[in-house]
Amino acid sequence: MTKILEKITVLALIGSSLLLAKPNVSILATGGTIAGAGDSAIKSSYSAGAVTVDKLLAAVPSINDLANIKGEQISNIGSQEMTNEVWLKLAKRVNVLLKKDDVDAIIVTHGTDTMEATSYFLNLTVKSDKPIVFVGAMRSGSSMSADGPMNLYNAVSVATNKDTVGKGVVVVMNDEIHSSREVTKTNTASVDTFKSVNTGKIGTVYYGNVHYYMNPVRKHTSASEFDIEKIDSLPRVDILYAHANDSDIFVNAAVKAGAKGIIHAGMGNGNLFPSTQEALGKAIKNGVVVARTSRVGSGRTNLGGEVDDEKYGFIATDNLNAQKARILLMLGLTKTQDKKALQDMYFKY
Ligand code: ASP
Repeated sequence: MTKILEKITVLALIGSSLLLAKPNVSILATGGTIAGAGDSAIKSSYSAGAVTVDKLLAAVPSINDLANIKGEQISNIGSQEMTNEVWLKLAKRVNVLLKKDDVDAIIVTHGTDTMEATSYFLNLTVKSDKPIVFVGAMRSGSSMSADGPMNLYNAVSVATNKDTVGKGVVVVMNDEIHSSREVTKTNTASVDTFKSVNTGKIGTVYYGNVHYYMNPVRKHTSASEFDIEKIDSLPRVDILYAHANDSDIFVNAAVKAGAKGIIHAGMGNGNLFPSTQEALGKAIKNGVVVARTSRVGSGRTNLGGEVDDEKYGFIATDNLNAQKARILLMLGLTKTQDKKALQDMYFKY
């Protein structure tokens, strides 16, 4: 009898632990306003990256009801200070963690200034279908109506939702879920700043309730040819911003500094000022890859519109903005210098 009771007790314990089993989520903190602090709740001044990951997580205890949370500090910077080194360190760490059976999802807390670039970098280089969610805040933790705590709670809800599996890297801000390929920061100060200008958000998350409406269709993560395990450095790719009365001086400076690629954020449909165009044509003859994008902020930069791409040897960046086009060219150049192959990547990723 006692044996049976013992058995029943053991089974009950196993049963209840299975019922209580929560997903394991690692939160990797990099800094930004979500980890920011200021002197006053009603002043705009603050320092980004002032709070450590432990304090950040302690401020939102309800996330522990959703998952077993582990925090790690990758960096503690304003994301305007982001470097290739931090990108490589972060992507490699995420890749290692997601290979473990006891890690179900990753959240990266990040500054909003370059979140669109870092998230797209991981979208192209990390080899996993498990959820990877980026989150930040527009108001520091000491601000009145700070948006970080709700954003973090929503990020954990998205990371632990089964429908997030296979979506590639997503960004959760202000109750919206965006694909990292599409999302961009559109407003300098509003909490409603992250928008997918060409395609729209893929889902919503409201007090932790997750709903998806679309799937990203471009290649990412497991289907990408780029593999962070094989990348230890990134080539120099500069961005040049076009304007009326432009000149060749920044093209020449970029080439002199050793740029292997240049992203030209052109006027309208990626158009160039004549002397800039000639200087870029010369750079291409000297082995630099030049990709045309647009400074407009939305829409596709098309091959062969007003610009004679064939004559100059330019490639076009589809509908990626300059900062995302730069990520793809840096990664593309780790594989090939071939212009046709690089052009094809802009149609695939
Ligand atoms: N400058 C900050 C950053 O990107 C802004 C923010 O996080 O909202 O780190």
